[in-house]
Amino acid sequence: MRLAIFGESRLGVVNAAGTALVDVTAAVPGHDPDPLTAGWWRALCRDFAALRPALEAAAKEGPEIALDTVRLRPAVLGPSKVIAAACNYADHVTEMHGVQERTLGKVEHWMMDFDVFLKAPSSLAGPADDVVLPPEEVAAGHEIHHESELVVVVGTGGRDIPAETALDHVFGYTLGLDITVRSQADRSRRKSYDTFSPIGPWLTTADETGDPAGLTIDLVLNGEDHRQHCDTADMLMPVPEVIAYASRIMTLHPGDVIFTGAPSGVGPIQAGDLLDTRISRLGGMTIRVR
Ligand code: MN
Repeated sequence: MRLAIFGESRLGVVNAAGTALVDVTAAVPGHDPDPLTAGWWRALCRDFAALRPALEAAAKEGPEIALDTVRLRPAVLGPSKVIAAACNYADHVTEMHGVQERTLGKVEHWMMDFDVFLKAPSSLAGPADDVVLPPEEVAAGHEIHHESELVVVVGTGGRDIPAETALDHVFGYTLGLDITVRSQADRSRRKSYDTFSPIGPWLTTADETGDPAGLTIDLVLNGEDHRQHCDTADMLMPVPEVIAYASRIMTLHPGDVIFTGAPSGVGPIQAGDLLDTRISRLGGMTIRVR
C-alpha cells in the first residue's frame, strides 16, 4: 500500500500507477488536521496491521483524485526525530576525501566512519516544496550538496532492536534528499535548515517494498546530469544493521524517520536547479532549488 499525506494533513492511498489517490482520512481513528498534533499518524505507523483493512476498504470505495490536483506533503507527519546515517557506501566515503579537501582544506578522519546523527524534524519538506538555500551560507561561499537516500519510517518502535528482527519494525520506505552545507559546522546545523529534508512523494509500506537491499537510487540534475546511481545492496551497513545501531543509542518511536546514507555522486546545487530523484518501486519527485 502507498500512503500519501496531502492537503490539510489528509491521508490518501495512492494507486498502482502513481497517478491518483483516494482520500481515506475518514477511516483514520482520531484524525486531526492540525499538523502539530501528529498522534494519529504515529498511531497509524504503530498499529497499521490492525488499521489496514479499514483503509483498504475506504480505498476501494473511491473516488480517485488525480495527484496533480492535490498538494502532496512530506510523506510523514511530526516524527519525534529524523535520524541519518553517515558513510554508508564505500564509493561515497572515498569521494568525501576529495570533497573535504576542497571545501575544508583537510580531511576530517573522524567523519569517515559509519555513524548516525540527527537532523531537525522541522527540516522536512514535501515533493511540492522548494529547497531554499540559506542566504548566509551562499554568501559565505559554502557549497551546498544534494544527497539522495533511501528513507526508513519506523512502525513498531523499540530499543536495542536486534538486526535479525529489525525489518519487523519498519512501517515503510520513502525517498529523501539530505541537503547539506559543506562547512566546518556541526552536521546537525549544516543539515537542519528548513526545507533541507524533502521526502516523498509517498510512503510505500514494507510488505509492498520487499527487500530494502534490492532498490536502485538515482538523482538527475536539470534533466541531464546523472549524478547519483546506486544499488541499495551496496550499503556498508544494510538497513537492518542501521536500525539496530540507531536503536542501541536512542529508543525508536513509531513514525521516526531514518535516512540510510548517501551513495556516491553528491555535488553542489544552486538556485534554479531541478533535482529529479527516484528510487525503484518507491517513486520519484522533482524538487526545485531557490
Ligand atoms: Mn546523508
